[in-house]
Amino acid sequence: MPLSGHCLCKAVTYKVDVDAPLLTGYDHCDDCQRQSGSTYSLVAVVPKDKLTVDGPIKKWKGTGSSGNAVWRWFCGECGSPIAHDPDAAPEIIALKGGSLDTEIKKNLKPDTEIWTVGKLPFCQEHLAKPFKHMPE
Ligand SMILES: [Zn+2]
Repeated sequence: MPLSGHCLCKAVTYKVDVDAPLLTGYDHCDDCQRQSGSTYSLVAVVPKDKLTVDGPIKKWKGTGSSGNAVWRWFCGECGSPIAHDPDAAPEIIALKGGSLDTEIKKNLKPDTEIWTVGKLPFCQEHLAKPFKHMPE
């Protein structure tokens, strides 16, 4: 069953033609805290060529730790974050897990934490595979 999701106002919808994400986890980097407005970003990493997006998506270009661009995708109507898309890894894209359809996100199995160097000190969650930066 493909993955599917939408923004808060439902102007942006997407589908990913895969059964499951390649990786599901928490991204603790400062940029993800800012884009999500929260403690960390729940990310579902998927192959970019399997993703189809409809609606008024906007992309804001930031700079990742590699010095390459990281494109932050969001709904142009309601501003909900949809994904972040690092030029350093062009074959994948990190969907914001909270934008997935409800029954899909309930069944996510996050097991990886990245950028724990930026983890907020009150965050009590600990997943099986923590990485200070990116997985090598
Ligand atoms: Zn929207």
